[in-house]
Amino acid sequence: MTALITVWRDGTAISCGRSCYSAKHKACRCPICGGLNHGKGPEVAAAITRRHLDEWVEAAGEGAEVELDPSVQQDPLFLIGDHPMPDATDEHPLFGLWDEADDWRLSRRSFALLGDLMKRDDLPPLNWTVTKWSVVGEPDTVLSHAAKRHAVQAWADALNLRVREHQCQGYARLSAGGKRAAVNGEVGLSFFVDLYDDEAAR
Ligand SMILES: [Zn+2]
Repeated sequence: MTALITVWRDGTAISCGRSCYSAKHKACRCPICGGLNHGKGPEVAAAITRRHLDEWVEAAGEGAEVELDPSVQQDPLFLIGDHPMPDATDEHPLFGLWDEADDWRLSRRSFALLGDLMKRDDLPPLNWTVTKWSVVGEPDTVLSHAAKRHAVQAWADALNLRVREHQCQGYARLSAGGKRAAVNGEVGLSFFVDLYDDEAAR
């Protein structure tokens, strides 16, 4: 791997890669990262590129094609080239001009957050639901109440979220939630489990 990101436009390519992230000299104004990846090494530069991807692609302008190294893609849904930005012509009932590119951008943000969460294999495994707006984790239904409780609490503690408990008709709901900063906004992140009274204390 040499280039982390290559942008093709009007038959010419510019890229940010090894000459940028392995640079030893001081001054560098990379045409893509503007110096953010300069001397950072491949892993950190890949993470920086992932974080700034949307704005760099936008800066490349209309009609530009983007090629990403797998270390930047992280997730198959990151294959931007497969989903060219359509024209913003559809009026969204809530957000005005809204198009599929916006939906893809939101999905990519949620999946990037899930990708980060997947690195925490020191925590209990959960079932995950990913939407355009949020990532939700739930313990397996087959677990004991104690194990469900532990799973929600462990994730909440790891992410500095407070666990709340609501007593409802026939069950208690534990939940912890918050927002996580992402490219151009926030993604909702929550954990919850319902502990049913009639499951007895399994
Ligand atoms: Zn660069």
